[in-house]
Amino acid sequence: MVIVMKPSATKEAIEKIQRKMESLGCQVCVTQGDNYCLLGLVGDTSKINPSQIEANENVDRLLKVQHPFKRASRVFQPHDTIIDVDGIKIGGGNVVIMAGPCAVESEEQLMTIAREVKKHGAKFLRGGAFKPRTSPYSFQGMKEEGLKLLKKAKEETGMPIVTEVMCQETFDIVAEYTDILQIGARNMQNFALLKKAGQCNIPILLKRGMSATIEEFLMSAEYIMAEGNANVILCERGIRTFETYTRNTLDISAIPAIKELSHLPIIVDPSHAAGKWAMVEPLSKAAVAVGADGLIIEVHHEPDTALSDGAQSLKPKKFGKLMTTLNHMAAALEK
Ligand code: PEP
Ligand code: MN
Repeated sequence: MVIVMKPSATKEAIEKIQRKMESLGCQVCVTQGDNYCLLGLVGDTSKINPSQIEANENVDRLLKVQHPFKRASRVFQPHDTIIDVDGIKIGGGNVVIMAGPCAVESEEQLMTIAREVKKHGAKFLRGGAFKPRTSPYSFQGMKEEGLKLLKKAKEETGMPIVTEVMCQETFDIVAEYTDILQIGARNMQNFALLKKAGQCNIPILLKRGMSATIEEFLMSAEYIMAEGNANVILCERGIRTFETYTRNTLDISAIPAIKELSHLPIIVDPSHAAGKWAMVEPLSKAAVAVGADGLIIEVHHEPDTALSDGAQSLKPKKFGKLMTTLNHMAAALEK
């Protein structure tokens, strides 16, 4: 951090703020220019409250040099985090495909889709049992019944499960059944839930909030990591912009940006980004091209009867075609 003092700041005022910063545990390098005096803070700045400094009437500006996230940062850990789930590696340049229905609807529905996505090369089965729906009148998910079906699908296909946990009350029950816990876009800043997720050792798939900046997204990962769970997989799923043609706007530049800022794996959800099945293939290809570590894709064998997100769900045949294309791309990119 660099504190820029106002030209009017007296020697006493500068010394006072210098002593205060030193008492909080950092070193202070004072540079006196013709007009401005700069205080460069180095070392441990964790106890400093930037807002208090900015409130000081002798301070002109505060410049932040470091990012506020630490554990999630590449500065803290230069090498890529690779998360191993049942021998499947997420991160470090692999392209892992997670696929399945938006929501678990019935045994027949889940088993049909699970067999299809497995056949085409998906490594994880996704499916919501507790669904965060915009309307309280929409299908809310099969809850524990749905979790049991996911377990059954795993037993048959061998694919580990990704499913969403929506609140602290149902955390333990969801954690009992799943291999990866999804925290959805709407809960990205549910700090109590993030802390709870940080206290378990199950990998967390953290989706970007629909209006979250990249820094806020990484700060949410930091919440989980600060509690002791370092196994965080980030997921870009589109953000809200002025555009209404698509459900969200896929922020494709977030992938290289996060790769630069963080060592955590980042995957892309083209389904919730587009909201339209026909755009899932081009967005998936774009995501792999910019370096995503994987994709999470909604698939349904009868999208016109789906209880949620049918419009953005690929039919198994289309999913198979996409997988062939992605395999060619991965080979070309030496992934
Ligand atoms: C989902 O994965 O079905 C979902 C609800 O996603 P998001 O939280 O990204 O909207
Ligand atoms: Mn969905």
